[in-house]
Amino acid sequence: MWFAVLPTLVDLIAPPRCAVCGDFSIAGERDICSGCWPLLTPAAVEPCPDGLARIAAGLYEAELRAAVLALKYGGQQWRGGPLGRAMASLSADLLPPFDALVAVPPSAARLRRRGYDQAFELARGVARTLGCRLAPRWLRRTVDGPRQATLDAAGRARVVGAFSACAPRGARVLLVDDVTTTGSTLSACAAALERAGAWAVSGLTLAYSARLDDDSLSGS
Ligand SMILES: [Zn+2]
Repeated sequence: MWFAVLPTLVDLIAPPRCAVCGDFSIAGERDICSGCWPLLTPAAVEPCPDGLARIAAGLYEAELRAAVLALKYGGQQWRGGPLGRAMASLSADLLPPFDALVAVPPSAARLRRRGYDQAFELARGVARTLGCRLAPRWLRRTVDGPRQATLDAAGRARVVGAFSACAPRGARVLLVDDVTTTGSTLSACAAALERAGAWAVSGLTLAYSARLDDDSLSGS
């Protein structure tokens, strides 16, 4: 898919920009400008209902929310790598031991429409910084579910079953996604991976939102 490669080539020749606010005036090799660093304060957030532990690099608000929206809906694939690198370097000390990273997979329809997978772009940045394995084949989405923003809590529960996995027995997996709210998507992924034999699953996301009614949120 040449159109998916093109943004990567553009990334290589474009001047560095802050991956959060998009400003061009960042110094040296840094991916985030000094004004945006305070937005990234990784912390463990409330575990998912099934107990799955999750770390979020920041809160889904202000410039970080705008950056997620630009990455997710604005065609700005270039933000994924540097945001992933930043979330990895800041949260490295908080992460449990794991054998491989797995990005929460998008639906086939959204991947076609978007031309890239924003969670995978983040995971690739995380993997590059931590020097760990990326395992995109361990998990796939089997059902094109409705946008999560349109679902109530009961509807979210039906997301379980939308994923299938083929992880090696005993594997410890760190799931990567852009935003987590109730944790239902991470839990559904974890359930599939554990059914396949994974021993421990945890989550790392760029942002956390406690709001269920934000129209900008969706499962992938
Ligand atoms: Zn910035």
